[in-house]
Amino acid sequence: MSTARQRHTKGRRNRRRSQIRLLAPQLVVCNHCKAMKISHFVCGRCGYYGTTEVIDTLAKLTKKERKKKEKEQAARAEAESQARQGEEIVPAHKAPQL
Ligand SMILES: [Zn+2]
Repeated sequence: MSTARQRHTKGRRNRRRSQIRLLAPQLVVCNHCKAMKISHFVCGRCGYYGTTEVIDTLAKLTKKERKKKEKEQAARAEAESQARQGEEIVPAHKAPQL
């Protein structure tokens, strides 16, 4: 086993240790369900990575839970489509500028 060749100063040791810390995860908005997720990871809520479904989140649920979640997803999809229609009625170039 090797031994230290020369003692390092307290300042040098403290400068090295100043970089040792926990970092907050890099969160982004999921394109599919709009929940916050870790970037470059599969979404934990909907199981999507980009536009492809990687994990079937409904597979392990009981019948009651599945029905509830499917209802939730349908409501969200409908709200999104209504929001999109609202955007189409007033295009950006025709909207009054504030
Ligand atoms: Zn998602």
